[in-house]
Amino acid sequence: MADCLFCSIVAGDIPSTEVWSDDRCYAFRDVNPKAPVHVLVVPRSHHLNLAELATGDADLTVALMRGIAAVADAEGLAGSGYRVVFNTGRDGQQTVNHVHAHVMGNRAMRWPPG
Ligand code: 5GP
Ligand code: ZN
Repeated sequence: MADCLFCSIVAGDIPSTEVWSDDRCYAFRDVNPKAPVHVLVVPRSHHLNLAELATGDADLTVALMRGIAAVADAEGLAGSGYRVVFNTGRDGQQTVNHVHAHVMGNRAMRWPPG
């Protein structure tokens, strides 16, 4: 999709640090990390948010969930635990309108978040 930051990152037009990928999803380090490990996992195709992805493509939704688990394994978080966040819409403070999972760990994550 034109003018989508994460589509540009997936395409390689904007550089990023890859953590893991497969044919359907791409995972890269957040440029402004909020935890020692902070990885964004996105589907390669453009979908606005989790609701639109889940209603539009169930297989890709599962692929994204498996990508999250693969990232947690690759980053050594599976044993210690981690947080997965999908910021959605205005009140969720979603700033990039391409669905993305934040995978954060390697410190105790405060709950509830501010
Ligand atoms: P949101 O606020 O939409 O849930 O999350 C967007 C995330 O994208 C933020 O955590 C922000 O730091 C990250 N981000 C914004 N621009 C870039 C970029 O150009 N590269 C990378 N790697 N992350 C970005
Ligand atoms: Zn996009």
